[in-house]
Amino acid sequence: MTCCQLISGKAGVPSPFCKIISFSYYDGTTSGAAMCGVCGREYFYDLLSWDDNQDVRIYGFSSIQAGSLGDLTEICSRFDTPKWPEWHPKPGVNDRGRKEFRAKIGEIRKTKTPPQLVVASEELSKLLLLAKAVHTAELLSDMPDSESPDAKDFTKWLAFLKS
Ligand SMILES: [Zn+2]
Repeated sequence: MTCCQLISGKAGVPSPFCKIISFSYYDGTTSGAAMCGVCGREYFYDLLSWDDNQDVRIYGFSSIQAGSLGDLTEICSRFDTPKWPEWHPKPGVNDRGRKEFRAKIGEIRKTKTPPQLVVASEELSKLLLLAKAVHTAELLSDMPDSESPDAKDFTKWLAFLKS
């Protein structure tokens, strides 16, 4: 396993993310929290774009506070059983647990930094097709709005990942 800090510019890297908690799902994860199995860094990720078949997905990774994943695990363990490396917590019938989960996600969203890493993957916990560190804010301001992932931006992201 290669650390998240050493994968930039590489293609076909085994995923460094040993723990993923998915926040949203559309035929696969579209946002969540992830932890690097080598250095323990924790990230929030969001879907930036996908190809026409929605198979290859581009995600932006932002740093989040250490311990966030532990907090999320504790909250979600109250209503579902942890499943690693990729956990899609099922809300179940525990209303309070679900509310706490949503509140924690909101908290993480507020404190996250701009994306530091962009990856292309079909299965985030297994293989990263491409990965690239983001170094400049200018680059991202030029990039499409991550609030509305769209296949039309896919080639643009791919070009960035290959640059
Ligand atoms: Zn790492």
